[in-house]
Amino acid sequence: MQQIYEYIDQHWQEAVEDLKRLCRQPSISAQNVGMAEMVPLLVRMMQEYGISTRVLTGPSAGYPLIYGELEGETPITLLFYNHYDVQPPEPLELWTSPPFEPTEYEGNLRARGVSDNKGDIVARLLALKAYQKVHGRPPVSVKFIIEGEEEIGSPNIAAFIDSNQDLLKADACIWECGGVNWRDEPVISLGLKGILCVQLEVRGASKDVHSSMATIVPNPAWRLVWALASLKDVEDNIRIEGFYDKIMPPSRREIDAIDAIPLDEDETKESLGLERFIRDVTGYDYKSRHILEPTCNICGIDSGYIGTGFKTVLPCMASAKLDFRLVPDQRPDDVIAKLRKHLDDHGFSDVVIAPLIEGENPARTSLDSPFVRVVSDAAREVYGLEPVIVPSMAGSGPMYSFTGTLGLPTALIGIMYPGSSPHAPNEHIRLSDFILGSKHVAAVLKRMASV
Ligand SMILES: [Zn+2]
Repeated sequence: MQQIYEYIDQHWQEAVEDLKRLCRQPSISAQNVGMAEMVPLLVRMMQEYGISTRVLTGPSAGYPLIYGELEGETPITLLFYNHYDVQPPEPLELWTSPPFEPTEYEGNLRARGVSDNKGDIVARLLALKAYQKVHGRPPVSVKFIIEGEEEIGSPNIAAFIDSNQDLLKADACIWECGGVNWRDEPVISLGLKGILCVQLEVRGASKDVHSSMATIVPNPAWRLVWALASLKDVEDNIRIEGFYDKIMPPSRREIDAIDAIPLDEDETKESLGLERFIRDVTGYDYKSRHILEPTCNICGIDSGYIGTGFKTVLPCMASAKLDFRLVPDQRPDDVIAKLRKHLDDHGFSDVVIAPLIEGENPARTSLDSPFVRVVSDAAREVYGLEPVIVPSMAGSGPMYSFTGTLGLPTALIGIMYPGSSPHAPNEHIRLSDFILGSKHVAAVLKRMASV
């Protein structure tokens, strides 16, 4: 391993120059800016790193995916999931340097997409180059799948994976966007929550009417408020019948892992200006609620007049957007059916569940998987610190296609630190994290060969 680490120590600056090349090219999926230019640039770079690469299209229209592979000393295969698209850079005036002019300062590199997640891509490529230069090939085979739609919700990845299961056959998967915590301990996350987004709509009269008519004309805003109130009690329990039925209880190992996660509740309270959390949770309960519990969240409500002054109007429609974060083994389709039944059973059959975006299943890799040992032993070796194992992130992503459809144990690691500001102005990485992240991947490849 020493030779590999030395190679990375001696050559990381060249890789950072390549990372700058990727960051100089905008690739904003939400705005379709630079996407067509990004693909050939990345394909060429992967080929320069010895990866045989091709461009694939999903079953429906959308930005293409980049597939890459490199044969190792054994047929054991590690699959990397990454994306080449980035978030829009606005507001531009808050950037210290232009978002697509990568800038090095004080051991950091600033650019849109450098942490999320072009830096991950290049750190992984550097680890593979080290093996090729030192030993001819990596200890295990690798595959890459790099999509261009992660930042717009990965609408096509599930269908793509469904129809390319043979191509993507592997033994384990490394996800993107991980890193270290504030104490510089490497964090290994093993899951993402699922998500379901719905819009509830209620209609009343055929047009807005004078509020004196409130004696006899039903108000859809009230109907909506009553319907919403039926979904949750003041103790924050979700009241949809059967909502919690499919939730798997945490394993002993997951409980122990959550127990060992450093507590950040005071920092969170302070940064949000909060006196207390829901149910006054603290300590283990605070962590486990955040990691293991599903949510039913009102994202927004719209009805009637909320402009300046007053308008005594009785609105003719009301709507609310809700999102549900789901945990294993809840399913978006099942939750939506239960929501429909709940509304009907409570006298709200007039509340319409309006067109939705595609939901995502929750994904979680068991702590019993030998791959978790591989990734955490590798982290301990490279970072010299005990890794923090997080059974699931609180956020969502298309991980189920990998854990479920492809059946791969999946770990989320990477080159970020908590100050990286992904999606925000002045996104950056610390170059020291880039080097460690590359070595971590190298160590994972080595250890995978000997499992
Ligand atoms: Zn990302």
